[in-house]
Order: sequence, then C-alpha cells, then structure tokens
Amino acid sequence: MTVNNSTESALVTGASRGIGRAIALELARAGYNLCLNYVSNEQRICEVQHQCEELGVQTLIVKADVSQAEEVEFLFNEIRKLPGQLSAVINNAGIRIDGPLMLMKENDWDRVLDVNLRSVFLVSKKAIRPMISKRRGSIVNIVSPSGLTGREGQTNYAASKGGLVALTRSLARELAPLGIRVNAVCPGVIKTDMIKDLKQELLDQFLETIPMARFGEPKEIAAAVAFLCSDQSSYITGQVLIIDGGLTMGH
Ligand code: NAP
Repeated sequence: MTVNNSTESALVTGASRGIGRAIALELARAGYNLCLNYVSNEQRICEVQHQCEELGVQTLIVKADVSQAEEVEFLFNEIRKLPGQLSAVINNAGIRIDGPLMLMKENDWDRVLDVNLRSVFLVSKKAIRPMISKRRGSIVNIVSPSGLTGREGQTNYAASKGGLVALTRSLARELAPLGIRVNAVCPGVIKTDMIKDLKQELLDQFLETIPMARFGEPKEIAAAVAFLCSDQSSYITGQVLIIDGGLTMGH
C-alpha cells in the first residue's frame, strides 16, 4: 500500500482527534503527504502533524470549517502548497447534537446537516476537478449506522449520514467512468471523544447488541480507509464498508 510520497497527497478533514487522527497516521504510514484539517483544536492537530512527520511524509495543517464555502475555498488554495497530486480525500469531519425531534432547535438541525453533509458536497466539488484531469483519485466518506438503520434522538445526525450514503453512491456513479472511486466507511461505536458524553447505561446497552462484545478502535477504521484509498481496492466503488463488530449485520 506504499505510494511514492513525492507524487501522492491526501486530505483528511477533522484530522485532529479520534478517527481522523488515526486515518492521518495510517495514510502517513502508506507514504501520502498530508493536508491535516481541523476547526478548533490547534494543540491536538500539531501533535498529529508531528506524529505524521516522524513517519517521513510532508504535512500541511489547515484550519477551516468545512461547512463554509469560503473556508473550503481557502483550504483548497492552501493544499496547492503540498507536494504531490491530491489523490485521496477523506471526508471525516463530523458532529452530533442529539435530541428528540420535537424539541430539536432549527440551528441544531442545520449545524449537523451542514458539518456532516454540506461539507462533503463543498470539499468533493473542489477535489474532483484535479482528480478528473489525472483520471485518478479515491474519496472516502465516513458515515454511521444511524444513517442506515435510524436511531431515536438522532434524526439530524441520521439524516446527514443517510444523505451521505446516497451522495456516496450517486457520486460514485458520476465519477466511475472518469477513473475516480467513491466509497463510504461506516464505523460502529468507536472509542473517541464523540461518544464521551454517552451515559454508561447506553454504552452497556450497545455492548449487549454488538456480537463481538467490544467497542472499536480508531485504527480499525483507519486500516479500511487506507485500503479504499489504495490500488488494492481498484475495482471497488459506491460501497459502504461497515466496521462495527457485527452491530448492523444484514443492513
Ligand atoms: P471526534 O473525536 O469528535 O472528532 C471530530 C473531528 O471533526 C475533530 O477533528 C474536529 O476538529 C473535526 N470537526 C468538527 N467540526 C468540524 C468542522 N466544521 N470543520 C472541520 N473539522 C471539524 O469524532 P470521531 O468519533 O473521530 O468521528 C469522526 C467521524 O466518524 C465523524 O464523521 C463521525 O460522525 C463518524 N463516526 C464516529 C463514530 C464513533 O463512534 N466515534 C461512529 C460512526 C461514525 P477539532 O478537534 O478542531 O474540533
């Protein structure tokens, strides 16, 4: 899975923590120069940058809210500074603002849809033009079981991730003739900051429904993302690869 680090680069949105951090490290191991995006956590992104550079690749940190068109524009202007063709884009940045729909504020609906779904439209639109000209590229979107099966208290999050599954498959169809692959990875319950606020009772309930009886590690998601970016997955497009210890088996 090693690429020539002078010719290939990758963008990871939300690379400062959790799954995005693990993806950045895995792609660094595979030899990609990296654009590491974050929105607020400067100290954490600097740590990730240091760890990636120790693996021998070049990196560029870009602070940008990927739900905002002008910030995505800035992000792609910055990416030009990174050596190598942008051949992999990982749309990982995401948030949850849970609550029953009856009590959900419009802002909380909009914010989750903007960060989780609109961002992927904005980022992918900018990324694919150079990919099309080289007829080479892989986009990986991070979705969620909520987007496949639905989950109470997550109408906004589930709608964003379900929409992202549909976007993934539609864009895969658009870009397949142009040599670009688009896939999604669907993590189950993974040990990151995102699940820190969940009550122990809910986590215990989840555990009971996971056939492998444990939560996932960010590196278990990262390995699959690196595979989908690599030429080893050269005939795979429009797929949703579920990595959840069996939680959503059958969907
Ligand atoms: P996390 O630990 O909360 O990290 C979220 C990352 O997204 C951070 O790097 C954060 O940057 C970044 N981010 C948030 N809003 C952003 C914005 N507007 N623009 C740019 N970056 C932004 O979350 P995680 O668990 O690693 O989740 C990563 C992805 O996996 C998300 O799409 C999530 O929905 C999905 N997922 C997670 C799980 C799970 O169990 N953890 C399960 C299924 C799917 P800052 O650090 O700068 O704030």
